[in-house]
Amino acid sequence: MATTSHDTPRVLVVGAGQAGMHVARRLRRRLRPGEAAITVVDPHSYSTYQPLLAEAAAGNLEPRHVVVPLRQVLPGVEVITRAVISIDHSRRTAYVASGSGEPEPLGYDVLVLAPGSVTRVLPVPGLAEGGIGFKTVGEAIHLRNHVLAQLDTAASARSDADRERALTFVFVGGGYAGVEALAELQDMAHDACRHYPGIDPARLRWVLVEATGRILPEVGERMGRYTVDLLQRRGIDVRLDTRLTSVVDGHLVLDDGSEFDAGTLVWTAGVAPHPLLKQTDMPLDERGRVLATKYLSVVDTPDAWALGDCAAVPDLARGPGAVCPPSAQHAVRQARVAAGNVIATLRGRTLKPYRHTSAGSVASLGLYQGVAQVYRLRLRGLPAWLAHRTYHLLALPTWNRRLRVVADWTLALLFPREIVSLEALEHARDAFTTAAEETAGRR
Ligand SMILES: Cc1cc2nc3c(=O)[nH]c(=O)nc-3n(C[C@H](O)[C@H](O)[C@H](O)COP(=O)(O)OP(=O)(O)OC[C@H]3O[C@@H](n4cnc5c(N)ncnc54)[C@H](O)[C@@H]3O)c2cc1C
Repeated sequence: MATTSHDTPRVLVVGAGQAGMHVARRLRRRLRPGEAAITVVDPHSYSTYQPLLAEAAAGNLEPRHVVVPLRQVLPGVEVITRAVISIDHSRRTAYVASGSGEPEPLGYDVLVLAPGSVTRVLPVPGLAEGGIGFKTVGEAIHLRNHVLAQLDTAASARSDADRERALTFVFVGGGYAGVEALAELQDMAHDACRHYPGIDPARLRWVLVEATGRILPEVGERMGRYTVDLLQRRGIDVRLDTRLTSVVDGHLVLDDGSEFDAGTLVWTAGVAPHPLLKQTDMPLDERGRVLATKYLSVVDTPDAWALGDCAAVPDLARGPGAVCPPSAQHAVRQARVAAGNVIATLRGRTLKPYRHTSAGSVASLGLYQGVAQVYRLRLRGLPAWLAHRTYHLLALPTWNRRLRVVADWTLALLFPREIVSLEALEHARDAFTTAAEETAGRR
């Protein structure tokens, strides 16, 4: 593993998501030969483009096409596929998880912190056991397989109660992750019902539970109300100002007094700062995010930078006291400024502040349906859906990925969706595990 050299400073990028991967790419392109070495550490060998996860879950996109292999896009950069578990910046050392269980030290000169956020799992009874998040490509693949498997379960159910349970899908959290995932998966499940003569699509029950009085705050209040109407017209039961209080053994209790069983519970009710941040000597705000300056340097901490979901970055466009919301839109733009400022510091030049006026947001709600607010322009239906696809296509890193996504979208328009559930993938080693257990039992 890398150690710092006296001649070439080493820039360590922790996390290669929207923020970290773009910082590393820009540093790689802009640094002169020998000016600095770059190391990227991430537990995955790829970077995930989360805004297209819902389309991957619905089968419009091949899941592999919404991730970017780090070694392919970062030639010449040292990529370490491990998790950073703590950082002692006073010693310019990060500690990386290792196979032996003993953390391995990794020296650096300049730190760029971008481990993102994690799903905020509240202490709701039964949630940790029965819920699933929607943040990773693994979760998207699992959810797709699971929803299709629920149709198989319902088709062969012996009792109405079992069938009803299998056909009840609940999503908690009305941000873009929850709303897009629900809308896309409902679309897919209804499509799939054509191949299940015993299942009437009207019997599928989709419920969206949101603790506040609105959904999709990113597209503004008016378009949020439009989305609620649209989802309700599609038969989705939208419960605003409602909280999940218990989900023990798949039996849901909501604080509006209703109770029912569900075979699927997707939890997208907010994000929390990455737990790694508490294992560092970085200054944190009251919500646990790294305190960053308008230049994306860490407050009162030389040689350290923080950006993306993990950082509380002043939002200059919204005025004093405002902090940038967690979004890919900010993360990618912050990456450009952070990389520029790292280089400026190495060269003794002036730093640039980060300032970005939100361009609005776009969301897909299933095939040909969407909602968008782009600056002052409000779009709905097909135009919004096209805006969603165009925006994310252009935002996807590399032409290789863009062309693959266009090919997937074209095929999805020309042919019926694939509706096979590959749940078996998640149990690929079961036969060998059983054999090993039997062998151990015979000893
Ligand atoms: C389903 C979904 C849809 C979304 N849609 C939109 C949208 O339409 N528009 C929009 O603007 N935003 C959207 N977002 C939000 C957006 O994706 C995030 O705000 C953005 O990805 C944040 O970038 P980041 O680099 O800070 O974090 P991430 O992109 O999450 O990257 C963090 C990286 O850190 C790595 N990491 C984690 N732990 C460690 C560790 N211990 N050591 C090293 N590395 C670690 C992770 O593997 C990951 O690669 C969506 C999010 C989700 C979940």
